[in-house]
Amino acid sequence: MSISFEIDEKVTGIARRTTEFVRDVVLPAEESCGGNVHDGPEPLRRRLQEAARSAGVFAPHVSAEWGGLGLDLRGQAVVFEAAGYSLLGPLALNCAAPDEGNMHLLEVVATEEQKERYLRPLAAGEVRSCFAMTEPAPGAGSDPRALTTTATRVEGGWRIDGRKWFISGADGAAFAICMARTSGGPGDAGGATMFLVDADNPGMKIVRNIDTLDQGLFGGHSEVAFEGCVVGDDAVLGAVDEGFTYAQVRLGPARMTHCMRWLGVARRAQDIALERAADRSAFGKPLAELGMVQQLLADSEIDIETSRAVLWRACWELDQGRSAAQHTSIAKTYVSEAVNRVVDRAVQVCGALGISKDAPLSRLYREVRPFRIYDGPSETHRWAIAKRAVRAARDRRASL
Ligand SMILES: Cc1cc2nc3c(=O)[nH]c(=O)nc-3n(C[C@H](O)[C@H](O)[C@H](O)COP(=O)(O)OP(=O)(O)OC[C@H]3O[C@@H](n4cnc5c(N)ncnc54)[C@H](O)[C@@H]3O)c2cc1C
Repeated sequence: MSISFEIDEKVTGIARRTTEFVRDVVLPAEESCGGNVHDGPEPLRRRLQEAARSAGVFAPHVSAEWGGLGLDLRGQAVVFEAAGYSLLGPLALNCAAPDEGNMHLLEVVATEEQKERYLRPLAAGEVRSCFAMTEPAPGAGSDPRALTTTATRVEGGWRIDGRKWFISGADGAAFAICMARTSGGPGDAGGATMFLVDADNPGMKIVRNIDTLDQGLFGGHSEVAFEGCVVGDDAVLGAVDEGFTYAQVRLGPARMTHCMRWLGVARRAQDIALERAADRSAFGKPLAELGMVQQLLADSEIDIETSRAVLWRACWELDQGRSAAQHTSIAKTYVSEAVNRVVDRAVQVCGALGISKDAPLSRLYREVRPFRIYDGPSETHRWAIAKRAVRAARDRRASL
């Protein structure tokens, strides 16, 4: 088996332009709002996306047919990391969560009509979207099979009823992709269906915007009620009862694109720590010459390099058309924890400055923490990784 991580000229060019664009345009914009975009400042989003379009870096993940630059996942890994150097970089390139994952899902699963109606404006940045799966207890969380939201047959369509929460970007989204149960009951492994619900549907309501630790996801995270929410048959995304299968289509790559973006944040935190360690002296020498600081800096370099390696490996697997569940679980778990370690060490190296709002580190610190929870908490992934490893070992033994 040969694994290719060759980065071609097209990707190198887009990555270079992204780095320059982020440095010159996006970082100043992040500075001016302190990275707080939970209230969804629409003029800022429009201005940044227009600038990204002019810089030739807009929608790198979307195929050319839908107005993007058509990069595969390995190409995205390089460019998204460069975009992730600023908290607002992915928003500017229109490759932020949850829109980026929804674009991928729509490209793979939607009908041509649905693509024209939902994917085209989303890929162009004209509208935003959200993905509504998680529910308050006892509903779907790390165990999606606990899904309680129902969709029942009515004449000409479906009626959706249920409560969702932590739905990123719901406030201000033009539509939601809502997961609802069309057969079976909570605990069943199948029976879920995805629905495209227009936000102006009177049966879909934002109940509240949840006050969370992070502030950098455009539109924040909302609790959303679906009450007597009637949609037509044309709102079904893919086939009825196949929602859990499609969720994997979305989640595998979406986990990796989260890793790419947060790796950019880790690189930025480490750059800040390196600069500070070189400039600040204590006990007669620069911090950078103190052994324990060197260990912090070295461990972060190791974390960043190893994160990139496991991430690119998983991307290569996905680019080959494989499900790569084990590789994406390993990458998601490793990178989410490594990124947290890197930012935490950078805070330590910078001392009190790291905690203050004078340096962007405190902002990066609060943003990276939730990544160990969403798209599968570390514990859920470890549980799945171990189960797959044991199964593979059993299969190997049985085939002897
Ligand atoms: C910032 C943020 C944004 C989000 N955006 C969205 C969104 O846009 N759309 C959406 O649908 N959801 C979203 N979520 C929800 C997210 O997907 C869930 O939080 C996640 O799936 C975990 O579910 P839960 O919070 O209900 O935790 P629970 O299911 O209650 O799990 C709690 C804890 O139990 C432990 N645990 C779980 N499973 C296992 C296991 N098998 N073995 C051992 N321990 C285990 C873990 O420590 C886990 O953290 C978001 C969450 C956050 C924090």
